[in-house]
Parts: sequence; C-alpha cells; structure tokens
Amino acid sequence: MNIHEYQAKALLKGYGAPVAEGVAILSADEAADAAKKLPGPLYVVKSQIHAGGRGKGKFKELGPDAKGGVRLAKSIDEVVAHAKDMLGNTLVTAQTGEAGKQVNRLYIEDGADIARELYCSLLVDRSVGRVAFVVSTEGGMDIEAVAHDTPEKIHTIAIDPETGVTAENVAKISAALALDGVALEDAKSLFPALYKAFNEKDMALLEINPLIVMTNGHLRVLDAKVSFDGNALFRHDDVRALRDETEEDSKEIEASKWDLAYVALDGNIGCMVNGAGLAMATMDIIKLYGKEPANFCDVGGGAGKEKVAAAFKIITADPKVEGILVNIFGGIMKCDVIAEGVIAAVKEVGLKVPLVVRLEGTNVELGKKLLNESGLAITAADDLDDAAKKIVAAING
Ligand code: GDP
Ligand code: MG
Repeated sequence: MNIHEYQAKALLKGYGAPVAEGVAILSADEAADAAKKLPGPLYVVKSQIHAGGRGKGKFKELGPDAKGGVRLAKSIDEVVAHAKDMLGNTLVTAQTGEAGKQVNRLYIEDGADIARELYCSLLVDRSVGRVAFVVSTEGGMDIEAVAHDTPEKIHTIAIDPETGVTAENVAKISAALALDGVALEDAKSLFPALYKAFNEKDMALLEINPLIVMTNGHLRVLDAKVSFDGNALFRHDDVRALRDETEEDSKEIEASKWDLAYVALDGNIGCMVNGAGLAMATMDIIKLYGKEPANFCDVGGGAGKEKVAAAFKIITADPKVEGILVNIFGGIMKCDVIAEGVIAAVKEVGLKVPLVVRLEGTNVELGKKLLNESGLAITAADDLDDAAKKIVAAING
C-alpha cells in the first residue's frame, strides 16, 4: 500500500526526521490561508499523487510549456496562481503511464535553500535478508539512470537486525553521502530514526529523493515515498487509515476485499490461476505466443466458489480484456470449485469474450463435467502450452 508524500512526511516527523512545515489542501480557496501559516518567502506547491517524477511531469490540459507538478513560488499570490493552475488537472510523469493521474490535492510547503540533493532509501535486501540503506550523492534525479550509467555511485549498507543502526553504519552511510559539519551531526539521529520507522511500520520501501543538505548545512527530507508491506497491514490501524482509494486501481481494491492476489496489467488476456508460480508461468507463456496478460491473478489454494466468482467478475469487468485464460492445477484447490465459481460468475455477468479453461488435478473429472453441462462456450485445453495457443488464436480471430 502506498501513501502520499504529505502523509509520509508527517509519519517521519513523528520519528524525529527533519521535514519542512506544510499544509495539504484540496481546493484553491484554501491556498492563501495555507501559505500564510508558513514562514515564507519561498514556498513549494506540490501535487499529491501516488507517483514520482512530478517535478518533471507535464499537465495534459496545460500544454508542453507549462510548469510541472512541483513548483516554487516566491509570494502567496504565486502560490494561489499555481494552485488554481494545477488542481483538477491531469499530471503525466514517467511513473504514471500515458493516462496520467488527476491532481486532487496539493501540499504547500515551506521552501528550502538547497546546497546538495542526495538519494537515500531503505528496503528489504533479499540477497542478505536484511533491511538495507541504499544511498547516493546523485539525488534528485532519476536514480534508475544513475544505477544504470554509474552503478559505482550507489552504495548499499545492510543493517544487522540484532544491533540496529550502529555508529559504524551511520559513519558508512554518511561517508557514502560525503556529509560533513552539522549534516554529519544530523545524520546520527536521522538514519536510526528512518530505520526505526521502517521496521515499526512494516514498510516495504522508504525512499527519500532528494534528501537535501540545505545552505545552512542541515539535512532535510525534501521528498518521501513510502510503501507498506500489504501482509502486515492488519496490525497497523493507523497506516490503513492513510489509504487513499482514489489513487488505486478499482479492480485491485475490489480484489483486496476478497483477499485475492491480483495486479492489474496492460495487456488483453485476463488470467485466473491458482498459485503464484503458475500465474507467473501463465503470463510468460502468453507473452511467448505474442500477447500480453491483462492481469496477474492468483486465487490461492483455499478459495471457495464465491471468491473464485469474485475473481472472475473482476477479470471480465476490465474493458481491455479480449479473452480469458483459466489455468488451474488443482492441489488443495479443487477443480470443481473453480468450475462452480466460473459458472456462477458467468450466470451473473455474462461472457462476452472467448474463454479457454485448462483444468488438471484434484476433482478434474467433476470440474470438466460441470463445465460441459453448463452450456457455456468454453474451449477446453489439455495443458499450459495448448491453453495459451488457444486463447491467443481465439483473440486473433
Ligand atoms: P518528484 O519530482 O516527484 O520527485 O518531486 P520532489 O519532491 O523530489 O521535487 C522535485 C524537485 O523540486 C526536487 O528535486 C528539487 O530540485 C525541487 N524542489 C522541491 N522542493 C524544493 C524546495 O523546497 N526548494 C527548492 N529550491 N527546490 C525544491
Ligand atoms: Mg523526488
């Protein structure tokens, strides 16, 4: 689960991290009052969407010469003008895809005088089984490009869970970021605080890009992106309360209500599979035959008929879907349960696209019998390869 920058900053501030004062607003009428609460004379007006690259982004409605989704303002009037310009419009960034995201909220912040822009993130480094800091002096810009072109400028410092962030860790991170003076002092509290926040809130990613050294020498968290581990959300009421469903894919929200592992993708073959590995293999083989999956969907092992039906309905409701591939290898999941779920869903919402079903495993004969007797226009497939070929052929007409 992702949250907005202003929420991430409030959370980090609670752990003692240095962030600017700021006020989130939903309408341009609030802009002047928001700015008056800040010291000035420099303000920043920041689009709050669940995507990065806002500064370099472009508003669809405003043309190529208009400013991006993060703007500096030198007066309250300018803050108001930017707010009017940005709110309600669609911001397209390198991370939003072509469709962009509508900006419904702005964060008005006290502007900082920047000396250096650094990169600092925390993530779970699976290669060492530890939370690691990933840092670089090359912050503020596209960190993927830095990783690609100059990988030696990116440093990874893994933290031992037994000790937490030690003085030695802080020294290493600080050296990698070439910190000195008061910034070096700030680092002693900042890096342990970030690690504490990451662990206590079960984050999956905490990315500060940029972490800045201000002209007065101090550090400040200038941008913050936080993703939480979805599997741990049940123990964080406060985190769940930060969810902004308007930022999420409606199909994924529906899927999460049913506890389905579903990820919306860009292709046009809808997939319903049991088991994450088989779901990945199914997506791969669709690609092998020249098409793209519309989604990842693992209905899991213990799903009942209702959950299967819900998954099928989510897949058919996607207007991009031109064909559906159901691929079940029944182990704990029984083929007849899948068949019943599919039949129930089709009875309710109809079936307007070709459907190829490959069933194997527990209760396969019963499952096939149910499907055959249902009268639905289903193409049966013998194995994964056959199934992928058949659905691709059905779509290609
Ligand atoms: P992103 O484009 O979505 O990553 O948004 P950021 O919050 O990282 O802002 C983009 C850029 O705007 C930063 O890298 C800075 O160069 C600039 N910026 C943001 N806040 C300030 C500020 O307070 N002062 C100044 N001078 N520049 C800022
Ligand atoms: Mg940024």
